Parts: sequence; structure tokens; C-alpha cells
Amino acid sequence: MSANDVIADDMVVSIHYTLTLDGGETVDSSVGHEPLLYLHGAQNIVPGLENELTGRKVGDAFDVAVAPAEGYGERMEGVEQQVPVAMMPEGVELDVGMPLSAHGPDGQVMTVWVTAVGEEQVTIDPNHPLAGKTLNFAIEVISMRAATEEELAHGHPHGPGGHHHH
Ligand code: ZN
Repeated sequence: MSANDVIADDMVVSIHYTLTLDGGETVDSSVGHEPLLYLHGAQNIVPGLENELTGRKVGDAFDVAVAPAEGYGERMEGVEQQVPVAMMPEGVELDVGMPLSAHGPDGQVMTVWVTAVGEEQVTIDPNHPLAGKTLNFAIEVISMRAATEEELAHGHPHGPGGHHHH
């Protein structure tokens, strides 16, 4: 790859990122850890951030504010549900913020998040915890390379920082 390469679909890109909310709260950061590895154009990351990375080069550093619609979606109201603790999978330590796999009305698998744990009832919410929030990313592009055939078929990167399921 040459120094003139820019980020485009089907490239494996590594970035350092720090995610903060409008109140200044830091939600997550790769700084001080391994950079995040993702496959560009495969919706591995939220659309608003992926769009901003298109055309960037190694060494680029920038800030971007991603609106909810381009992030984890708008927050849906009135969709929380109470579920008896007895219906929860056995042996699982339930915690606020924990994601669970559930079957939706049409039998499709969906992710819900635990928002409250009571003695008898657990409250679950299909909203992603970051739904309805503006996502403020500080980004630095660390490296990029062409994806392998296998990575393209799987829709995610392999190797250090990627998936290790083989
Ligand atoms: Zn894979």
C-alpha cells in the first residue's frame, strides 16, 4: 500500500477513538489499548463515523459529532418491558446495562438491555444504551490494508484486534 491510500470500502482500518457524550462523560476509549480494527463498508461501526472515515489517510486525526439517527438510533419511548426473573436464563448474573438476546414478535433474534433488576422482575429495553445520544468521537487513523477474501466473506476483520473465532 502506498502513502497515498485513502480509506474506502473493503479495507481493514485500525483507529484509535475516544467516545464522549454531550455532558463530557467518556463512554469508551481505545487510547492506551490496542486500536480498534474494523472492515470499512461493512457496518462494523456506526454509519455517521464510517462516513466520516471515508477518504481519510493514515495519520489523520479529527473530531466528529454523530447525531443519533447516524449513531445508535433515536430512543423509542414506552418499549421497556417487565419480565419475571424466573424467565431469565439460569446461571446468568443479571446486571444493569447487560445485553441479552431475545426473540422478537416474529421470532427474530434481537438484543435487549437490562435497565433494572428487582427481586421478582427484570426490566428490559430494546433501546441501545446510547440510543438518542449524540456521539462525540475523537479519531486517529492508525493503519489500513486491503481486506482478505475471508474477511470480506465474513464481514469483519481477523487477526490482532479483530475476530478470533477460527
Ligand atoms: Zn470471521
